[in-house]
Order: sequence, then structure tokens, then C-alpha cells
Amino acid sequence: MVCCAWYFTFSCMFVAFLLLIFQWKETAKIYRPQLTALMFGQLVPMLTAFIYLIGLTPPGVDPVPMVLWLSSLLYLWSINTSRLFTLTPIAKTTIFNSINDGVIVLDEFYRLIEFNQSCKSMFPNINTSMLGTGFEKVWLQLSGSPFPTKIERTSTFTKEIHLASDRIYQVRSSSLQHAKYEKGLLIIFTDITELKRLQVKLEQLAYYDELTQIYNRRAFFQKSEQEFAEAKKRSIPFTMILIDIDYFKKVNDTYGHHIGDQLLKHVVKACQTQLNEGELFARYGGEEFVLALKGCTAIEGEEIANKLRRYVETQPLRSDKGDIYVTLSLGVAEASEERDETLYQLLNHSDNALYRAKGEGRNQVNVFNGEKGEMIKAP
Ligand code: GH3
Ligand code: MG
Ligand code: MG
Repeated sequence: MVCCAWYFTFSCMFVAFLLLIFQWKETAKIYRPQLTALMFGQLVPMLTAFIYLIGLTPPGVDPVPMVLWLSSLLYLWSINTSRLFTLTPIAKTTIFNSINDGVIVLDEFYRLIEFNQSCKSMFPNINTSMLGTGFEKVWLQLSGSPFPTKIERTSTFTKEIHLASDRIYQVRSSSLQHAKYEKGLLIIFTDITELKRLQVKLEQLAYYDELTQIYNRRAFFQKSEQEFAEAKKRSIPFTMILIDIDYFKKVNDTYGHHIGDQLLKHVVKACQTQLNEGELFARYGGEEFVLALKGCTAIEGEEIANKLRRYVETQPLRSDKGDIYVTLSLGVAEASEERDETLYQLLNHSDNALYRAKGEGRNQVNVFNGEKGEMIKAP
């Protein structure tokens, strides 16, 4: 009976020893001495028990309890030097709470089991009474709306969410694994509000004209290339209108550059009131503007051009130096399937028409009728 108990004890110690060996690879180098000490602590009573079992010790004397003090000392040293019960958990909690990202920990049933300090600043309503509650319900209480994606441990996600508080978060999930089993889920919130604002600002600077706040030349080429390709693909008409303010230099010379700037803004605003949403209107350069009309023929383009021209000539800029009237000259050209021209050739045709409008007395619309002219170069 006693012998059976010792076989059992010996087997348990042997399994424990094996478990420690299996941990070797996963243990950081600095903790290897501690692991070695634990292994020795295991090995000493094991060998002693073995010696006892094969009958090498004096009869009636069980040597194992005598060597257990050595194992205890080795265990105590390991625990103390690895600071298992003191420093490590404190360090982990401190790190968990000091990261800027909000972290929510869910268990395998998607119930809230922990959240860090940053989460509290992101979601002031989160509190410990919610621990144990299903995440969907928690989220509804925090944000007032359902979580935008299905939560699953098997498929992680990255999503951008815009909260009513006007903050934008990038949310990503990461499954928590313990050994081979997936145990729970981390949901990590990164505040990207400032990043998004900066992105919008950069986009504004890159694509919009600073003075008039309409698309600049770069944005125009980028967008009109797409629109033009689409029109070609769908075999729908595409018309380009170049718009130039007449005798604009005179305005600058007479009233000064500042008034000239105001007039440019004023003309843009006036044109915008006559245009439909989605029509590609951009500052082409200086006092020239361009309008790309997908789905419009030259005849429709001519109508729109005349509408702009008639409107602008009746709308003076009311400045402290009096009312300033200006007129527009406009060149219209429709892309032709037979000519199969590029966007730049089409622009060139509009420019030819504009040149004619200028030559024929300004304040008028001219439609390109097929003659050749100088090419506008790609930017
Ligand atoms: P035309 O009827 O032949 O078009 O004559 P114009 O005077 O309008 O044309 P021109 O090309 O001789 O002069 C255009 C002027 O526009 C010259 C330039 O100083 C002025 N200009 C270009 N960009 C700006 C701007 O951003 N602000 C101001 N105030 N003036 C500008
Ligand atoms: Mg001009
Ligand atoms: Mg000009």
C-alpha cells in the first residue's frame, strides 16, 4: 500500500518535472536560472524517492521528507528572484493602464471582464458594474448604437467608427489564446480623430484652390480623367468648357490685386449658383476656370455656358470702390467618338473655341467645330 502511494508520488513528480522541461523554450532567458532551480527542486525528491523505491536506503527510513527542505529553498529562491507575486503583475497592470489605446477584454462568451484606464477617458460611462455583461449590451450603453460589426473570436476585424462625441476611433480585435485554445477577445480602440482631421486638411490643401475653394488643376485632371474614361466606356457624351474672365488684368490694374482676388471668389460663387451638384468645376489657373460635363452634348454645354455668361454679367462685385462688373468668354468642345481624342486634345479644342470667343469680341460662347490648334500639354 505504502509502495503504491510512493509510485503515485513519484509519477506526479516526474510529470511535474516534464512540464517544467516543456516550459524551457517559452521561458525568457533571464528566467532560465529560476526554471533550472525549479527543475532541481523537483529532481531532488524524485531521485530520493527512486532510491527509496529500489530499496537502497536503510529499511524503515523514508529519506524524501529529509530532502524536501532543499526543494523548498530552491522554490523560494525562484519565486523571490522572479518576483512572480510582486513585480510582474504590478508591471503588467501599469502597462495595461498606461497605454493610450483603450483596451476591453472579453471572455469566451463575449462578456466584459476588464478594461483599462484609457477606456474610461474614451467612454466615461464605462464602470465596474458592467463587468460580466455581454459586450453588445455594454456597447449600446456606452455609445447609444449597436456595435458596427459582428464580434467573433474566429475572425478578427479592423473598423473605423465615428461616435456621437465627434471622436473617430480605429477599432480592432485580437483573439486571446491560452495554450492551443482561444479563450477570449481583446477589443482595442485607437483615437484617430486628430489624424483624420490632418488627413482632411492635407486633402484640402492638395485638391482645393486656396483662394476660391473649388478644385485646383491637379484635382481637376485626376477627376476628369476618371469621368472621361467612364464616359468613353459607356459611350455617353462628354463636354468640356473653358471659362476666362474678360479684361481681368484691368481690374487688378484699376482696383488692386486684393479686389482682383475678391472678384475671382465672387465669379466662382456666381457660377456655382448656376451649376448642378456633381458637375466638375475647377480653377484651371489665374482667371481661368474649367467645367467638365459628363453626359452633356456640345449643345447642352453651350446652353450651360450661356447661362453662366448671362448670369455673371448681371452680378457685380459690390466693393468699397463701387460695383465692379465683369464678363466671361467661354469655349465649349464635345468629345467625339470618331476623333477618339484624349482629355488633353479635348481641352485643346475648348481652348481653341475660347480663343475664338475672345477674338470675336469677348462676353460670348464659342463651340469648337473641328479645326486644329495648339496642343495643351499634360500636367
Ligand atoms: P483677356 O480678356 O484677354 O482674358 O484679358 P485678361 O486681362 O483677362 O487676361 P491676361 O492673361 O492678360 O491677364 C490675366 C491676369 O490675371 C494677369 C494676372 O496678374 C491676373 N491673375 C492671375 N491670377 C490671379 C490671382 O490669383 N489674383 C489676382 N488678383 N490676379 C490674378
Ligand atoms: Mg482673361
Ligand atoms: Mg486668361
